[in-house]
Order: sequence, then C-alpha cells, then structure tokens
Amino acid sequence: MAKERLTFELNQVVELKKPHPCGSKSWKILRTGIDFGLRCEGCGHRILIPRKDFERAVKRILSDPSSDLSS
Ligand SMILES: [Zn+2]
Repeated sequence: MAKERLTFELNQVVELKKPHPCGSKSWKILRTGIDFGLRCEGCGHRILIPRKDFERAVKRILSDPSSDLSS
C-alpha cells in the first residue's frame, strides 16, 4: 500500500508532536513551500522550519481553511 501523504494549506491548524514551551500544540500554517511558516496558537510565536522537518513534526491536522472562517 502506498503511504498516505498529507497535504498542507495556508491557514490550516495542525497539532505537532511536541508542545511549545507555552503549552500549546496547535500551530497555524502561515506559509508553505520549501520552508513552512507556523504561528503558535497559544502565544503567537512564529517559526520557520524546513518542510521535511515540519512533516515529521506534525501529529495531525486540526482544522481545514474552510472551517476556520471565524478567525
Ligand atoms: Zn507558544
């Protein structure tokens, strides 16, 4: 069986395996590409990490852009 590959889009909220020091594990995707820009939903801290590191760090997708209209 082929390995399922997640697709990531701007404004998706994802959960990472390791929590941020502020206690939040939710991050919003601000930028996609070779590097991914993420914003911590807990404290607003922004990071930029290589896509392959991001894919390893993601545990699951919490929301899709279409369901995130209120923010
Ligand atoms: Zn944080």
